[in-house]
Amino acid sequence: MISGVEKLGLQPYRRTAAIVDVEHPLPEQSPMVAAADHTFYFRREGTEVLISPSETVPSGPEDARPRPGDVDRLIVKLNELTTLGIRGVRRAWTGLRTEAADGVPVAGFDAEAPGFYWLAGQGGYGFQTSSAMAELAAAQILAGQGAGHRAAGPATIRHPGQRRRWPPHAGPSGAEQWNP
Ligand SMILES: Cc1cc2nc3c(=O)[nH]c(=O)nc-3n(C[C@H](O)[C@H](O)[C@H](O)COP(=O)(O)OP(=O)(O)OC[C@H]3O[C@@H](n4cnc5c(N)ncnc54)[C@H](O)[C@@H]3O)c2cc1C
Repeated sequence: MISGVEKLGLQPYRRTAAIVDVEHPLPEQSPMVAAADHTFYFRREGTEVLISPSETVPSGPEDARPRPGDVDRLIVKLNELTTLGIRGVRRAWTGLRTEAADGVPVAGFDAEAPGFYWLAGQGGYGFQTSSAMAELAAAQILAGQGAGHRAAGPATIRHPGQRRRWPPHAGPSGAEQWNP
């Protein structure tokens, strides 16, 4: 329990990426390439290429680092499957992608802890969704604190075992409820 708030059961998953030098740089308009079996993806990054083993390995809440061999094995595989000709690694890193059990981002006031607001669980889509999520969170937090903010009533986050509802619906006050 953190800050007197019950845990929601959010789970971090490892995801590694690396920037590599290649013998044959990808053309400017090259699309991102992702394996149908989710074992890798790569895309152009200037004259270099970003590669990832696309792993979704559960982790504790830690300062994640690439595991020995993960990037090397991916390079061997990509050099077999493509004509990229990967020559070396510029840099590699691992991040945690945190998800709720249903994969839906968590945003809203805690149902039992007055004043505690959750904004978490953006999973693998945080870059793309963060602007909208931040706008939603700001509107919900600031609702009722003056004019100028888009109307959005307080949504509540219910804990595992409580009723779950998706998609968002209009609550009794007409306010949107989001109960991941
Ligand atoms: C390899 C990789 C590729 C990705 N690709 C994409 C993509 O293409 N598109 C996309 O939309 N999303 C992508 N994502 C997902 C995106 O990065 C996340 O959804 C987003 O970063 C989540 O933002 P956040 O602020 O919630 O968490 P984070 O970005 O993880 O930030 C949390 C911060 O809190 C800090 N922290 C943690 N614990 C503590 C503590 N106890 N005290 C103080 N600080 C702490 C951490 O150091 C970190 O800086 C990718 C993720 C990874 C790992």
